[in-house]
Amino acid sequence: MWYLTEGRQAILDTVREFVRTEVAPQALEIDATHEFPLALFKRAGELGLLGVTVPEEFGGLGADQTTSALIYEEIATAMPVLTIAMGAHSFLAGGLIEMLGSVEQKKTYLVPAAAGEIIMACGSTEAVGGDNQVEFATRAVLDGDEWVLNGGKVLICNTGVADLYVVVAVTADHVDPVTKAGLSAFLVPAGTPGLGIGKPEHKLGWHGSATGSLSFTDCRIPRENLLGPLDGCLQAMFVSATTEFLSCGPVSLGIAEGAYRMALAYSLERTQQGQSMFDRFQVTRHKLARMYGEIESLRALVYSTYAERDRGQLCLAQGRLLKIKGAEVSEYVAREAIQLFGGVGTVVETGVERYWRDAKVMAIGGASVEALNDVVAGLIKRNLA
Ligand SMILES: Cc1cc2nc3c(=O)[nH]c(=O)nc-3n(C[C@H](O)[C@H](O)[C@H](O)COP(=O)(O)OP(=O)(O)OC[C@H]3O[C@@H](n4cnc5c(N)ncnc54)[C@H](O)[C@@H]3O)c2cc1C
Repeated sequence: MWYLTEGRQAILDTVREFVRTEVAPQALEIDATHEFPLALFKRAGELGLLGVTVPEEFGGLGADQTTSALIYEEIATAMPVLTIAMGAHSFLAGGLIEMLGSVEQKKTYLVPAAAGEIIMACGSTEAVGGDNQVEFATRAVLDGDEWVLNGGKVLICNTGVADLYVVVAVTADHVDPVTKAGLSAFLVPAGTPGLGIGKPEHKLGWHGSATGSLSFTDCRIPRENLLGPLDGCLQAMFVSATTEFLSCGPVSLGIAEGAYRMALAYSLERTQQGQSMFDRFQVTRHKLARMYGEIESLRALVYSTYAERDRGQLCLAQGRLLKIKGAEVSEYVAREAIQLFGGVGTVVETGVERYWRDAKVMAIGGASVEALNDVVAGLIKRNLA
């Protein structure tokens, strides 16, 4: 592959071994039990996979974005949900700290986060308004030297297991519908009195992501736990969320590859009247050829976009396109893979239908593809795409 340099290949080799020996053997169990993959998450920290792009002074590998994409793609071939937990930690929460945090805040949180010593989550979405921040109701009010938070968040990954929650709250009289000024980010450590943690939702896919709700009832945090400018976190969030949307490209690519590999192997192995399904049915061959084509098109889009990002482009529109296109391709390939398996494809223990469940959630989790398309349209109109 044109994007595989010697350095990236070396990291990829390590990740392949991790996936083969530790991640893949636990994938079905995590899917069945819905347990957060804590041991694997910690192991990812030991291997440096939780702070790939974080500067070395803050405990990361200081590697480029393409290296991060390779890692996410490889892990997602076996256990997509591990990359979801990693992304919420490193890109959603970690990205905001990296963009908005003081040097002290970065040292305090990014260093142990990169090593997997602490787990982080990012709470933005609310029950009313979804990801339309203008309608947010969680408020933070300054009282002496403390911020007092009241309100709640829903559908937040890594809840319960996180040691630190990066929380978005309203700090002005109202949120400006255009600039979104009036929202600020806060660092809320687990265990803070007044912080309530809901139990994980039972979901279609991403089993083990520990996605649940947060509540704040007179939850007091020190004044210095404000992250970034007062009333002005949303612009940074728009940019930092791009990194998370970008990562949905390689994650979706990994999901599609995992499902495709299983379908190809099965079609070559399953026989009818002495012939494999692959050799016997043109429709089987053509399905696989089209799945392969979609995967390779997505790969081209993913790695050319990451190359742009590594050249310093923000990729605001392209990042969102990776999430949109990735969700489409992974859902299509995973759906066709189930079809090629026939009846056993619908059996959970076969291990192929879970790729479709995970792919379906890719179109919503973090942001719906429809809302993202709307943002892309806005960027096109402003000539920012
Ligand atoms: C598994 C999972 C994990 C998640 N993890 C996190 C997390 O860690 N942190 C966090 O803050 N949030 C998280 N979320 C929340 C996620 O970001 C929201 O679910 C998503 O933004 C959609 O918001 P909503 O569910 O309220 O849907 P709504 O906003 O109610 O939207 C419903 C539907 O309406 C349509 N729609 C909505 N807005 C638009 C628009 N602007 N243009 C066109 N159509 C639109 C879409 O079809 C959308 O699916 C997670 C969600 C899931 C499912």
